[in-house]
Amino acid sequence: MNSKFTKPYNPTENESVIYELWEQSGYFNPDNLPNVTEGPFTIIMPPPNANGQIHAGHALFVTLEDIMIRYKRMRGFKTLWLPGTDHAGFETQVVYEKKLEKEGRSRFNLSREELYAEIMDFVQANKKATENGMRQLGASCDWSREKFTLDPDIIQTVYATFKQMSDDGLVYRGERITNWCTKHQTSLSDLETLSETRKDKLYYMQYGPLVVATVRPETMFGDVAVAVNPDDERYRQYIGQDILAQTPIGELKLKVIADEAVEKDFGTGALKITPAHDANDFEIGLRHNLPSVEVIDRYGKLNEKAGKYAGLKIEAAREAVVRDLTELGLLLKTEDYEHDVSVCYKCGRVIEPRIIPQWFVKMKNLAEQAVKAVKNKKIQIIPNHQEKVFCHWLDNIRDWNISRQIAWGIPIPAKLCEKCDYAVVDIENQKTDCPKCGGRLIKDPDTFDTWFSSGQWPYATLGYPTGEDYRNFYPTDVMETAGDILFFWVARMVMFGLYRTGQVPFQTVYLHGLVRDAKNQKMSKSKGNVIDPAVIARKYGTDALRMALVTGNAAGTDMALSEDRIKGYKHFANKIWNITRFILENSQGQNSPVDLVPADEKLLAEFRALTADITTDMENFRFHLASEKIYQYTWHTLADVILEESKPLIFGNNESNRLSRLLTLNIILLDLLKLLHPFMPFLTETIWQSLPQTKEKMLLTARWPE
Ligand SMILES: [Zn+2]
Repeated sequence: MNSKFTKPYNPTENESVIYELWEQSGYFNPDNLPNVTEGPFTIIMPPPNANGQIHAGHALFVTLEDIMIRYKRMRGFKTLWLPGTDHAGFETQVVYEKKLEKEGRSRFNLSREELYAEIMDFVQANKKATENGMRQLGASCDWSREKFTLDPDIIQTVYATFKQMSDDGLVYRGERITNWCTKHQTSLSDLETLSETRKDKLYYMQYGPLVVATVRPETMFGDVAVAVNPDDERYRQYIGQDILAQTPIGELKLKVIADEAVEKDFGTGALKITPAHDANDFEIGLRHNLPSVEVIDRYGKLNEKAGKYAGLKIEAAREAVVRDLTELGLLLKTEDYEHDVSVCYKCGRVIEPRIIPQWFVKMKNLAEQAVKAVKNKKIQIIPNHQEKVFCHWLDNIRDWNISRQIAWGIPIPAKLCEKCDYAVVDIENQKTDCPKCGGRLIKDPDTFDTWFSSGQWPYATLGYPTGEDYRNFYPTDVMETAGDILFFWVARMVMFGLYRTGQVPFQTVYLHGLVRDAKNQKMSKSKGNVIDPAVIARKYGTDALRMALVTGNAAGTDMALSEDRIKGYKHFANKIWNITRFILENSQGQNSPVDLVPADEKLLAEFRALTADITTDMENFRFHLASEKIYQYTWHTLADVILEESKPLIFGNNESNRLSRLLTLNIILLDLLKLLHPFMPFLTETIWQSLPQTKEKMLLTARWPE
């Protein structure tokens, strides 16, 4: 017997050797696979952000996708798992800005080019670490096809989409109200803001003959109207009239307008309207053709239109205005007021709505097509209840702001006229004069929202429209990703995929939940409860970590990961090791064909039934059940019962019983290793490579048992 089995299983000694063996075989690449009997099976890996280390969430997605890929590979599919990394625009720039802050530097002291170059170096270093982290987790992806979101061919595809959308009238440049972060100095999409409940004051101010209630008296210098509900009897006489309102810096002329959006029972039923600094007011302004007057600048300070308050930050300005209104007798009363405000999802600062020219994507039609694809079962989402969530969100979608005022990203291929601000798409970078006024064109300084490029990932990575891979592997089969990016990413991929290729980008969406700590708390550095996959894998073995991540963890639910659980699966790995040793030791190369006795026929029949059951679970994405069943069988049936009952047979005098049992155990062992391989690839391949004789050289490409 192989002397390897005399010591306990040592994962660290074996894992890198085994990974090297697989990688050298070339079988991660579908073009090299032997014995392909089925069609393609493709997963495009959600590209990890190239701005940090591998964490437990990465370990979970790598494990799940690797399970799917290994299983299908063993069933004879031409499996492609295409890896990549994401430049992750705003996310990465925020990480890098924090790093700069720690070093006492600021991005605002760097030119765009300098900042871009620095972040590129940072990202390249991280990319390597990320790739190695995935190798350590056992990812059997095709590294020869690896992609980065800033690869020139990816950028070309992204540009072609932008051009086509512009030609089709689906993108436009517009002055619309946007979510502005005064810290990060960029606009953000609706998805990049969070809603937070805050306690503020509601101020009742005398506004000419009317009384308005507002939480933001400091924006009064940008007010252009007072709005009331058309059915509100109290104000009917004022509708259509101009009123003069006294302010601490002089009089304001305001138009009184009637709009359905005004609630009669909020405050006094009369609203001050500031189109430049409030999203709802902006909409009302559009409906009534009102001008907008900007009084707050990009840094969140009042500008010269606010007279003596110019230069004050919003909070300070509010205090000063309230004090002065009180002195003038214009503040009638103050109430406590609880309301929801939008904040930047990265820094938590209150979003300051601003009107700036931005590129937008018209979403209505794209969203309708995506909803149709889900309703017509062209795409299945697991867990199923997410389909409703998906459709509801798309039914209520607004146009998508895709311009970002940050350096780290794909530049928007457009030019703007210096004179008239007219915008033209210019992929080839050749246009110099404004087609409208003849003025000089300058480069649009903005970059794309990172999801505008990652949303095109499935077909861009496969070389749409002419690439061979695109012809062979698109539409892909499964998109496995975190449930919290269903809208950010999955929905956009579906919309882009349908728009550009006319086909869904994937047939099944598998969403996983969050990995939490043993007490079900979110993992965070500050709490010190982070489980680092690399450290844990060195301690207990990658396979133990993989089993702990998958077993009992159904799609869409958050899971609690404890070190104890991982340790438990290390014991399990050793159990299998010992089972193998027992069978090998007693077989002594004995696996000649003999007639099985009825008792062994029965054992095998039971094992075949289990195999069929597990195969059904694998086909239906119930990996959490499949691994549990293998675990239970291995430990509590095979080890505890069958091996114990086998001892008298193996050491007894009845030769036909002895040989029959040994053959049965050998058959079960080989198939068990196969069933376990997707979950515990390192251990099972290590054993496979140490078996005296196997028809299939590598477990990686062995046939799944029938
Ligand atoms: Zn921010």
